[in-house]
Amino acid sequence: MVAGPIHMAYILAALLFIMALAGLSKQETAKYGCLSGMVGMTIALIATFAQVESVSGFFLIVLAMAIGAAIGIFVARRVAMTQMPEMIACLHSFVGLAAVLVGYNSFLELGSIAPETVTIPVGASQATIVAILDAANQAADAAAQAATTMSAGELNTHLVEIFLGIFIGAVTFTGSIVAYGKLNGTYKLRVFKSAPLMLPGGHYLNLAALIVSVLLLVWFMATPNPSVIPLILMTLIAFAFGVHLVAAIGGADMPVVISMLNSYSGWAAAASGFMLSNDLLIVTGALVGSSGAILSYIMCKAMNRSFISVIAGGFGNEGAAATGDEEMGEYHELKANEVADLLKNSSSVIIAPGYGMAVSQAQNAVAQLTEKLKARGIEVRFAIHPVAGRLPGHMNVLLAEAKVPYDIVFEMDEINDDFENTDTVLVIGANDTVNPAALENPNSPIAGMPVLEVWKARNVVVFKRSMNAGYAGVQNPLFFKENAAMCFGDAKKTVEEIVANI
Ligand code: NDP
Repeated sequence: MVAGPIHMAYILAALLFIMALAGLSKQETAKYGCLSGMVGMTIALIATFAQVESVSGFFLIVLAMAIGAAIGIFVARRVAMTQMPEMIACLHSFVGLAAVLVGYNSFLELGSIAPETVTIPVGASQATIVAILDAANQAADAAAQAATTMSAGELNTHLVEIFLGIFIGAVTFTGSIVAYGKLNGTYKLRVFKSAPLMLPGGHYLNLAALIVSVLLLVWFMATPNPSVIPLILMTLIAFAFGVHLVAAIGGADMPVVISMLNSYSGWAAAASGFMLSNDLLIVTGALVGSSGAILSYIMCKAMNRSFISVIAGGFGNEGAAATGDEEMGEYHELKANEVADLLKNSSSVIIAPGYGMAVSQAQNAVAQLTEKLKARGIEVRFAIHPVAGRLPGHMNVLLAEAKVPYDIVFEMDEINDDFENTDTVLVIGANDTVNPAALENPNSPIAGMPVLEVWKARNVVVFKRSMNAGYAGVQNPLFFKENAAMCFGDAKKTVEEIVANI
C-alpha cells in the first residue's frame, strides 16, 4: 500500500480512538466507545500489515500474533471480573517491556554496536562462512545507512528517544509487576504487600536514581559512537526505580497508581512510536498517556491526595501506618430476616456497594432487592464512591450489567449530603470507602480521603463475612457505631435471603 492511503487509515484510526475515549466517559455510550476502539484497532492493524515488505516478516508477525492471541484468549477466559485490575497491571507491564525491547532494537539498528571483527569458527562449512559474512555486511550497511540518512541533530534526537523510551518502559515494566502483586494480594513477598514499603532515605534514593540516569544520558550522548553500557546501567536503575516507586505506595492509593501506570504505558508506547517512526503509535500512546494522566488527576482529587505526592512514591505519607487490629468496642449483629423487616419499615434506602459486591457477584440479587423495595413504594438510590472496587467505574459496570437504572445511581458528591435524611443504608461489601477514620483520624493511612458518610443515616447495615479490615488494612469505626449493625455472610447469599423475606 502506498503512503497516502496508509496515512488516511492512520488518521481514521486515531479519530476512532478519540471517539472511543469520548464514548467510554459515559455509561450510556461506553458500548459504542468500545466498538469504535475495536474498529480503529482493526484499521490500524490492516494499515500496519500493508507496510510489511517481506513475506517472511509477514509470517513472523502473524505467528507472533497467533501465539500472543492464543495465550491472551486462554488467560482472559479464566480471569474473574475481580481479577481484572491485576490483569490490567500485568498488561501494562508488557507495554513497558515492549518499549524496552524496541529501544534496544532501535539502538542495535543504528549499527553502533555492530561487531567490528568477524569470527569464523574453525572447520565451518562454506555455506556457514557465506552466511556469517552476509550478516556482517548487512550490519555494516545498516550502520552506514543510519549514518548517512541522519543528520547529527536527528541522530542526537533519536538517541534521546531511545534512552527515554527504555527508561519509561523499564519503570512501567517493574512498577506494573509490583502493582500486579499488590492487587493480587496473595504473594508473600514484602514488596507485594498492600502496606507501603519505603527503604530508609527512600525519596533520596529515588532522586539519586533520576540524577544518575541523567548523568548516564550525558555519557550515552557524549561519544560519537554511543556505548551500550550506559544504556544497560540506566535500564537496571530504572527497573529498581519502578519497583521502589510503586512499593512505596499504600493500598488505599493504588487507584492512582493504576491510572498512573496506565499513563506511563501510554508514554512508553509513544516513545516506541518515535523510535519506530510510526505516527499512529505516537498518537495512540499520547492519547493513552494523557488520558491516564487526567484519570490519575481525577482520582487524586477524588481521594484528596496530592498528585505529585503520589507519583513521587507516596511522598509525605511517612507517618501513616495501617491499623487493622485495633480494638474498637462492641458491634451489633442482624440476621437477614431482621434486615428485611428493617427495610420494610423504611421509606428511603441508599445502597453503598464496594469490592465485596464484586467478589460475591451480588449485583443481580441487589438489583432484585431494589425492584422489590421500589414495588413497595420505598425510594432506593445507589451511592458510588469514585474508588469503590478495584477499577475506576467498577461498581457502575456491575450495576449496569444487572440493569439497575442509571437515574438512581449517584456519584459520591451528588448524594453525600442526603444520608442524614435517609432511613436505612445498606453497605454491600464496602469498607474503606465508608470508613469515618478518613475524616476523624489524621494519622490514618486513608486520612483526608472523602468517604460516603453513611453513618449519618438513621440505620446502617454492613454486609461482609467477618470483622476484617478493607484493602487499606485499616479497621473501620463505622462497624461499632450505635446506629450500625453487621450482617455477616457472603453478600450474594445474604441479599438473596432478604429478597426472599420481603
Ligand atoms: P474494600 O476493599 O475496602 O473492602 C471490601 C470488603 O468487602 C472487605 O472488607 C471484605 O470483608 C468484604 N467482602 C469481600 N468478599 C465479600 C463477600 N463475598 N461477601 C461480602 N463481603 C465481602 O472495598 P471498597 O470498595 O470500600 O474500597 C476499595 C479499596 O480498594 C480502596 O481502598 C481503594 O483505594 C482500593 N483500590 C481501588 C481501586 C479502584 O480503581 N477503584 C484500585 C485499587 C485499589 P470480609 O473479608 O470481612 O468479607
